[in-house]
Amino acid sequence: GDVTLEQVREFVWEIPKSGGMNVPARILASESLLDEISEDKTLEQLRNSTYLPGVRKYALCMPDGHQGYGFPVGGVAGIDAENGCISPGAVGYDINCGVRMMRTNLTYDDVRGHEEELVDALFEAVPSGLGGGGVHEGTVDDVDAILSRGMDWALENGYAVRDDLEHCEDEGYRPEGNPDKVSEKARNRGKNQVGSLGSGNHFLEVQRVTDVFREDVAADFGLSEDQIVVLIHCGSRGLGHQVCTDYLRKIEQAHSGLLNQLPDRELAAAPAGSQLAEDYYEAMCAAINYAWVNRQLIMHRTREVFADVFDRDWEAMEMDLLYDVAHNIAKRETHTVDGEETDLFVHRKGATRAFPASHPEVPAAYRDVGQPIIIPGSMGAGSYVLRGGDRSLEETFGSTAHGAGRLMSRTQAKNEYWGEDVRDDLRDQQQVYVKAQSGATVAEEAPGVYKDVDEVVRVSDALGIGDKVAWTFPVCNIKG
Ligand code: 5GP
Ligand code: MN
Ligand code: MN
Repeated sequence: GDVTLEQVREFVWEIPKSGGMNVPARILASESLLDEISEDKTLEQLRNSTYLPGVRKYALCMPDGHQGYGFPVGGVAGIDAENGCISPGAVGYDINCGVRMMRTNLTYDDVRGHEEELVDALFEAVPSGLGGGGVHEGTVDDVDAILSRGMDWALENGYAVRDDLEHCEDEGYRPEGNPDKVSEKARNRGKNQVGSLGSGNHFLEVQRVTDVFREDVAADFGLSEDQIVVLIHCGSRGLGHQVCTDYLRKIEQAHSGLLNQLPDRELAAAPAGSQLAEDYYEAMCAAINYAWVNRQLIMHRTREVFADVFDRDWEAMEMDLLYDVAHNIAKRETHTVDGEETDLFVHRKGATRAFPASHPEVPAAYRDVGQPIIIPGSMGAGSYVLRGGDRSLEETFGSTAHGAGRLMSRTQAKNEYWGEDVRDDLRDQQQVYVKAQSGATVAEEAPGVYKDVDEVVRVSDALGIGDKVAWTFPVCNIKG
């Protein structure tokens, strides 16, 4: 599209306010990333999002941004929680999609030679793919308890230890989660998927720490070179998807007046203070709780697999949760806007919270250094651990990127790559062992479909919104 861009300073670009825009928009990117971001509808979608009533300061696109449903993946919008609105499309279909990293005290040497055994055992034990089944085969009553209690439910049912809750964003629990606001269809979809990866972009990856950039922070995070860690990426499965679908439909119908003022139907939003804004928020929080339990149960199963393969208790291998961060959410937060403390719905879609040291919402364990941020790259590239930077509250409502970000669509990827070849190349050339339910998934997720994660992280670090702490490389990976 014909979007005007002005450079503000290095890595900061602005779409100036014009027409129906309430505020300008900003893109945080190097020139090469900006070229990639400009190739699809990302910039138009970002500009469209500034039409949402109550959007403050500027709408933002992170360096990994690409087009999404209505609102870019990699998008951040802080919208007035009193006079603005909340928009399901600016949260995303996979509510509380996110990543968690678990530490171990194993080193790469301990795992070498066991990769195939490990990847087979993980693939066998961790439910994945489109088929039904989860770690916990539950009832709708279980689902309701999970929706209202989050990781506390996992603790009570022997799937978590107290320490896990203390190392999770919001301690794995949003009190606003209300199962009464989640449709029966959604709750039924959630019943057989508690503790399952799903398909496509979701994965479980065993990694080794290959580099440490900030020794002191890495020590506080319990990370050191050559250490084995596990990265889990998934969200709220069919339940969250159904919540998004249900509320988009309801909001489109009930708030068509607002919808008609927006340049894109997919931005449908409920005005702050309306019944549907409240209902969607409570349903979204319920789905957030579900996703935290989902990742917790997968981590629990992973501990059992490691105990089996390495013939030691998981406690002896110090398989502790480093952190769990959401990257598809909206949250009521207080931020300083124009010198005033303002309640906002901060929408982060494909964006990670990045609160700096001393912020009260950073867990006690990390309050002196800033919250951990986990940025996956791809199954053939490194991933990063960052910490919330000093500039994040000022620049991005306390946010940074969530990944490398897609470069090409799934359809395009399947034309470019053949799953078996990608898998064999990863094994033969990079010693990465991949096992997936389908070859198509491997092709769709080939390392070449993603942007350069090093470049994404370089921008985050240079802007001081998320600082590089450590770098990891895949050892083995399972996918749906
Ligand atoms: P999303 O949540 O938008 O689907 O993806 C998050 C990020 O995960 C992507 O932008 C990509 O950089 C990264 N990613 C996708 N597949 C893999 C994988 O198999 N391993 C790792 N380490 N990262 C991946
Ligand atoms: Mn995700
Ligand atoms: Mn997801």
